[in-house]
Amino acid sequence: MKVHVLGVRGSTPAPGHAFARHGGNTSCVAVARDDAAPSLLLDAGTGLRGLGALLGERPFRGALLLGHLHWDHTQGLPFSRAVDNDGAEVRVCIPDQDDGDAAIDVVRRAMSPPHFPIGPEELRGAWSFESLEPGEHHAGGFEVLALEIPHKGGRTYGYRVSDGRSAIAYLSDHGPAALGPGPEGWGPYHDTAMALAAGVDLLVHDAQHTAEELPARVGWGHSAADYPVRLAELAGAKAVLLFHHDPIRTDDEVDAIVERFAGARVPVTAAAEGTVIDL
Ligand SMILES: [Zn+2]
Ligand SMILES: [Zn+2]
Repeated sequence: MKVHVLGVRGSTPAPGHAFARHGGNTSCVAVARDDAAPSLLLDAGTGLRGLGALLGERPFRGALLLGHLHWDHTQGLPFSRAVDNDGAEVRVCIPDQDDGDAAIDVVRRAMSPPHFPIGPEELRGAWSFESLEPGEHHAGGFEVLALEIPHKGGRTYGYRVSDGRSAIAYLSDHGPAALGPGPEGWGPYHDTAMALAAGVDLLVHDAQHTAEELPARVGWGHSAADYPVRLAELAGAKAVLLFHHDPIRTDDEVDAIVERFAGARVPVTAAAEGTVIDL
């Protein structure tokens, strides 16, 4: 499995030289079976624009799993020539909103006039939109476990993706402190987080805050960077990729957060656009 990191920011893009090394685009990760073209996308933040170059201008064919519907996870959708393409075949899966609306109508709430000039039905290529219930699924040639995790404002899933040999967990937006303080005040290591992270080769996880910042931001739906490091140690995950960097966090500040975990029992790095992780 190859994990292509296309967008790493949370909340809103962060342009500018102070953010250039890790990158300013919002959440998007493309997953490929070894050397094949990526067939599974996790989220469609502005990082999705980078997929065209990654695919050598070929159209994308596969599944796009949205963890939730916030802007920083959807706004790349109409701006990627790999998916808005006559040859594209895109199966979009979103968390079931439990409100009876079809998946395409949920996407349309944010993507239609007067908010945006076109609706999802005007994207070029062959598109399907579906609501996923929690549980096990097949998508883009991978086995996928989708489970609901605490965040803020709309149902949110964490995903575990496996090709049968390697596995990653993707919890881009996760606010476990909503469930209580847990042992260190960062939130409990609840059963769902443990199930998603158990034994994975790579845990891609929300690291929006520092432990010092978290007490004033508990209601925002995100994690302290310390949480995924401890979660990985407890769940037997083999490595941590800190993800969903706060848009105010400069590259040097992200590096300083990583340095805090030099003594962790698992290797910890910070997500940077353009990197490829070979598992
Ligand atoms: Zn987000
Ligand atoms: Zn969010």
